[in-house]
Amino acid sequence: MIKIANKLEKIEEGIADACRRVGRDRSEITIVVVTKTVEIDSIKEALKLGYSDFGENRVQHLRQVAADVQAYAQSQGGEASFSPNIKWHMIGHLQRNKVKQVLDITSLIHSVDTLRLAEEISDAAVKADIQAGVLLQVNCSGEPQKYGVPVGAATHLAEQIATMDNLRLCGLMTMAPLTMNKDIVRACFVRARELFEEIRGERITGDDFCHLSMGMSQDYEIAVEEGATILRIGSAIFAM
Ligand SMILES: *Cc1c(COP(=O)(O)O)cnc(C)c1O
Repeated sequence: MIKIANKLEKIEEGIADACRRVGRDRSEITIVVVTKTVEIDSIKEALKLGYSDFGENRVQHLRQVAADVQAYAQSQGGEASFSPNIKWHMIGHLQRNKVKQVLDITSLIHSVDTLRLAEEISDAAVKADIQAGVLLQVNCSGEPQKYGVPVGAATHLAEQIATMDNLRLCGLMTMAPLTMNKDIVRACFVRARELFEEIRGERITGDDFCHLSMGMSQDYEIAVEEGATILRIGSAIFAM
């Protein structure tokens, strides 16, 4: 059995060290535990350790795992040591025809990167009479194959999303390129943070605009140093 507790402890140490280096407080940062292909037993371990934010990148799997976790949480009743307040994050590319399937179970959709997707979510949220929390996914690496709105078009898209009914624009999300070169990764996160501050400064969005979702298993320490408020971590927790 893999020691999930040990891995999370090591990650927490890394985050604490990064916070110390730049004078940040750990409480400013949320870890989204990315479950993907992980077994429910492993997810239970993370729940028992007090983690309550979980992320999935595929709609079908998100629905399945969320239902399994919900059933488990209920079976534990009041005795559970974990938070009753479990939140699900949709972190992967979202097709417009799947919006309805994620809307009722996610607290935050990280991957809004086109006007049409934002409109689809807004329409569905109006019909369901809910407020949908979304992040604008930005392509900070300039890699053409990556999802995300180009940096140069992000402010305009944020302006448009900010006017939509029943959408709360809560911040930005980005992914660094897959590289061992830390300078390239850092440059990407710096670009995201600068854009985040620029949009916030222009006051085109409300007070909800306070999250910067960046940093994964390979680069979460750099992300913390550069201002991430949400880390999306999977393999560093669950991989053998
Ligand atoms: C899989 C995934 C993660 C987590 O990646 P790890 O390297 O396993 O930590 C984060 N964000 C997105 C969008 C993902 O698809």
